[in-house]
Amino acid sequence: MQRFICAQYTWQSGAGARRTHMAVFIAFAIVLSACFRSAAARELRIEHVTVVSAERSDPLRDATVVVRDKRIVSVTASSLPRASGSDVEVIDGTSLFLSPGLIDSHVHTNELAGMVGSMEERFPVVARALRKQLPRSYLYFGFTTLVDLISTPVHLREWNAYPVHPDLYFCGATPIPGGYPPTYQTKEEQARTYPYMLVEGSNAPAAVVKKMKTDGALCVKAFYERGFGEVDVWPVPRLETIRALVKAAQASHMPVLIHANSTDGQEFVLDAGGDIIAHGLWHWNGEPQSTELTARAKGVLDRVLKANVGWQATMRVLAGDRDVFDPEFLSAPRVAAVVPPAAIEWYRSNDGQWYRNANAPTYLSKAVLDSGDLSKQWAFIRSPEAPLIGPAIERGASAVRYMAAHHARFLFGSDTPGSPSFANQPGLNGWLEMRLLVEAGLTPAQVFRAATLTNAEALGLTDELGTVQVGKRANLLLTRQDPTQSIQTYDDIVKIILGGRVLDRAELAAQRCCAEVDPSPRNVPL
Ligand SMILES: [Zn+2]
Repeated sequence: MQRFICAQYTWQSGAGARRTHMAVFIAFAIVLSACFRSAAARELRIEHVTVVSAERSDPLRDATVVVRDKRIVSVTASSLPRASGSDVEVIDGTSLFLSPGLIDSHVHTNELAGMVGSMEERFPVVARALRKQLPRSYLYFGFTTLVDLISTPVHLREWNAYPVHPDLYFCGATPIPGGYPPTYQTKEEQARTYPYMLVEGSNAPAAVVKKMKTDGALCVKAFYERGFGEVDVWPVPRLETIRALVKAAQASHMPVLIHANSTDGQEFVLDAGGDIIAHGLWHWNGEPQSTELTARAKGVLDRVLKANVGWQATMRVLAGDRDVFDPEFLSAPRVAAVVPPAAIEWYRSNDGQWYRNANAPTYLSKAVLDSGDLSKQWAFIRSPEAPLIGPAIERGASAVRYMAAHHARFLFGSDTPGSPSFANQPGLNGWLEMRLLVEAGLTPAQVFRAATLTNAEALGLTDELGTVQVGKRANLLLTRQDPTQSIQTYDDIVKIILGGRVLDRAELAAQRCCAEVDPSPRNVPL
């Protein structure tokens, strides 16, 4: 039952795929710079703006915010005399709101929505279009900082070659051999994809943490996954191993995020002393039919609350599986804004529908599947009769509702793409996650705090990010509405400010992404 996905598979590991990635990045650096020629001014001043930041009890109205050398140098409640000289960019913020750029603390930037590695090699034009747009789509929805939970310095270098991209941090991932996520890989592939794999004896937790710290990792990622749904076949790490990992990470001031979406798994995280649970709680072991919070599920959540452990709901993991059945999903204007036309066309094709087609026999009744009626299938999968996914989504929402009511320490993490679903597009998926969180009971203010200050605190980034304060990196958003009052404002951002550089949202749209570039293979230096 491969439907209950909660982190990404290891989709591409072949040398061919890696070569293709490098070639694409080189091409981006050359070509995409044409999209963003304007250099940041020496000083940026945003005047008459309302500052919204989670450390403030009230917004600061009619403020002036000054940025120099990529950082905020002053935040004042009144107008400041302007510096002389022409190299000052002034933005009139009258009737606008200035808030910190969003942090998504659970993404997988090396994966493409709706594609696995073998497809990337078969459909290189589509894959390249998706890769070109990927960092821009995050910015389009206001995500100026990302944390990739399974990455390496090699990928970080590739990411930093994009002409415009959110700031990226990464965790070193520590699966055990044969365990999740590299369950289906050969030993050689596992070693290549997971340089921080825990191997009893030779690669002890302390050595693994030391290696990833040296490599520049911000955090440690571990896994507890015995199988999706009621499947119970994969090996999981021993409790003592993860306790030792946590101890080593704490000594290195690195938070430990642990993949766990089950009652057994989240109890394991609590027993091991992990800092952050990287998923919501939608698999309740031995209680697969329940959707209202059971005594055991409630008990696990109460322990999370008591320990004040960070909690990422990642509601889009399951919703993304469901949404590939929505016949209208790919027609939404928001999708056109962040997905290249060639990719939308491919997603509509039989090849592009592979993930939907693979899941359909499990999620639909035979009669509904055999009807071939897409509208009927979409209605069915959202109904209570839909097996597996319907109750799982309900369980996840019940847990989020409880955690919101009890003021859990939510960290905003979308787990994009989280599965090979084309519905989990970068940036857009984060915004859809916010929408689900609010539907499940979080206030927009809770979402705002989770995606700014709480994420920064939990990841040790408060010196750099998370608030609009002097000394912080100038990753900021100008919006029409107060983001603590409405998440809709992220669907209508006026300006994205990235390290003091002012970006128009329209420039980041897929339709504007270097349409002049012919992405055919012959133009890419392989
Ligand atoms: Zn993940």
